Amino acid sequence: MDNNTPPVCNYEDSDYQTSFWDTSDRAYEDAVEAVALKRLLPKSGDLMLELGAGAGRNTSRYGGYKRVVLVDYSKTQLEQAQARLGTSEKFIYVAADIYHLPFVNHLFDGATMIRTLHHMADAPLALGQVKRVMQPGGKFILEYANKQNLKAILRYWLKKQSWNPFALEPVEFAALNFDFHPKAIRNWLTSAGFKLDRQLTVSHLRSPFIKRLLPLAVLVHLDSEFQYTGALWQLTPSVFVRSHVDGISEGNPQAGFFQCPSCGNDDLQKHDTEQVCAGCGRIWPIVNGIHDFRIQIQS
Ligand SMILES: [Zn+2]
Repeated sequence: MDNNTPPVCNYEDSDYQTSFWDTSDRAYEDAVEAVALKRLLPKSGDLMLELGAGAGRNTSRYGGYKRVVLVDYSKTQLEQAQARLGTSEKFIYVAADIYHLPFVNHLFDGATMIRTLHHMADAPLALGQVKRVMQPGGKFILEYANKQNLKAILRYWLKKQSWNPFALEPVEFAALNFDFHPKAIRNWLTSAGFKLDRQLTVSHLRSPFIKRLLPLAVLVHLDSEFQYTGALWQLTPSVFVRSHVDGISEGNPQAGFFQCPSCGNDDLQKHDTEQVCAGCGRIWPIVNGIHDFRIQIQS
């Protein structure tokens, strides 16, 4: 494995959870995401990989899974998740970047990546890593920001926006913030080895005017009904797609769990406060229950 990584978006020391979700007017977005997730999640499973878990806003929605591995690049976000969810066998906290996932192949039977691909400069590379760590038959729920949304189309037609919402390449509208074309996402998922199951369009009514006009319950009800049109077309700012890895799971064929993100060796000697890679000798700390596998932060 090489250590050349595309730039990583870091929410370290960010108050994203409180400023974006807890105090601002995001109840609608949160509620309609919950509806989409409920529709797409399998009823039960063994081991869920939550990529870009942040402060654990969605984690409690994976109650059907026996264990959840929360991955985020920011350790402070994971600390907030820990404060919310507690420390138990059920939750495993891992600081890592998605381009170098510190897990053995074919480990997980479920994975979600919500509001996270948005920050990936190399989305196909990230999706390839997700595929690598998933079992055959494993279900993957991906949310992405859709560049081909109605607002972007109107702005483009009115010449208020230079980039073309119909073009397949991602648009970086702010540093490390990307919107994607639905067809590009489908192509990448297929190339990575996923088979598409369903698409739901989400946040049809994400407009300050509409959100002021209608009560929350009505907004959520309407969006819930509209989500099914995702099978036909995708014109919302947010899209959920569920896919699966082809084949039937025979469980995790390997005894291992973690692997060294630096050299790919899965022989890690575990101590109380660190794991030591038998391949390259690198030390991966465990601090207050958080497994730190970030390649770039350590030297
Ligand atoms: Zn190593």
